[in-house]
Amino acid sequence: MITNTIKQLPKPHRIFLAGLSAIVALLVLLPSEHVAASKSHPAQLLEPGVEYPIDIDFSAIQSAHVEFEDDVDNWQQYKVKNGDTLANIFSKVGLSPQDTYRVSRAGEHAKRLTKMKPGDSIYIHVDDAKQFDALRYPLSKTETLFIEKGESDQLVSKVEVKQVETLHSFAQGSIKSSFWNAGTSAGLTDNHIMRLAGIFGWDIDFAQEIREGDSFNVVYEEQYINGEFIGFGDIVAAEFVNQGDVFRAIKYEDGNFYTPSGKSMRKSFLRAPINFKYISSSFKKRRYHPVQKRWKAHRGVDYAAKTGTPVVAAGDGKVIKAAYDRFNGHHVFIQHGETYTTKYLHFTKRAVKRGQMVKQGQVIGYVGATGLASGPHLHYEFLVNGVHQNPRTVKLPQAKPIDKKEASKFKLLAQERVAQLDNNKRIMLALNVPNLEMRLSMGK
Ligand SMILES: [Zn+2]
Repeated sequence: MITNTIKQLPKPHRIFLAGLSAIVALLVLLPSEHVAASKSHPAQLLEPGVEYPIDIDFSAIQSAHVEFEDDVDNWQQYKVKNGDTLANIFSKVGLSPQDTYRVSRAGEHAKRLTKMKPGDSIYIHVDDAKQFDALRYPLSKTETLFIEKGESDQLVSKVEVKQVETLHSFAQGSIKSSFWNAGTSAGLTDNHIMRLAGIFGWDIDFAQEIREGDSFNVVYEEQYINGEFIGFGDIVAAEFVNQGDVFRAIKYEDGNFYTPSGKSMRKSFLRAPINFKYISSSFKKRRYHPVQKRWKAHRGVDYAAKTGTPVVAAGDGKVIKAAYDRFNGHHVFIQHGETYTTKYLHFTKRAVKRGQMVKQGQVIGYVGATGLASGPHLHYEFLVNGVHQNPRTVKLPQAKPIDKKEASKFKLLAQERVAQLDNNKRIMLALNVPNLEMRLSMGK
């Protein structure tokens, strides 16, 4: 980037800059004892109260040291640092600007070398005459860029893609203390737990409606290269039983989740405008519904959470109010089409303005205790045609089904996935363990 900036400058400036950097390099590199002394005894050199404008970037000096690891094949490894370009790496390795030029022109894939990231490794092979011979640059866990001599000594580039094998594993759990704990003890990653809550976030209020005895059953991907585990993939099928209601979701190739009958899991409103991971008391052992009674008393749902916790729009809409008053504190009202309005009270800070269009899941404010509030919480109201409804139980518009053209294909996939989910339950029942993760390869 610095190189580009310099290139854009008029020539006299470039010469000046080149001269300047040479002087800086001399200052930095030559009096090494002096620099070391100034570091250990700064008081001897710097006077108090005086501002010293020159700020030496020690990380830049360190990056001047070339680190190589020779391996048996005589490949030299170079770790890419901040600001490195192919040209300066080559010059550190002792290769010429001509080599840099030839490599950068080695066909389509060579362009990937302009996007090197700090921390990447680049492997360079130099022949006996100290000339460039070949280069190897892992682009990801699965892709490697090669630049080497082709026919007639012309450099060519290619990207090798390793075959990734995807297997399905499953996890199943029953909730005793909290959804998070159950997910963890079933072997789910944090990402999978969040994902699971996201998949069912239109049906289940994970912040306040999870109960002891609720259960989940998840099929997810695991990826392997040559039999070696390289990482987790997405959830492909999941079941959640919440207070006796069974929800199932199947991932289709468009990346979206649908019910086994092909209805979209995505709906016009989220059940909770706040992420469950922020809710301290996200779990209630009691079987009765104190919240229901409380809802009747004040026509809203309260979510106790720390001040500053982000609150999101439950659905797409238009901000019709974003203001402060002594009862509601900082509050935001959103109009969703003709029928629905949602209200969010007691923010410490608003994140939207009146008249603004917002998307479902967009942050509109932060939990606080402004107005008439005894402690930090979100007070959330849901109105249908101006009448307050319980957002947890209100009947919402039917979700759009999967595209007709995809329906038959999806149906086949859904049958297979539902069979997987059912099979998991049978295995779990047979083993008689409540929380378990199965690392069985089940094919795809
Ligand atoms: Zn309230």
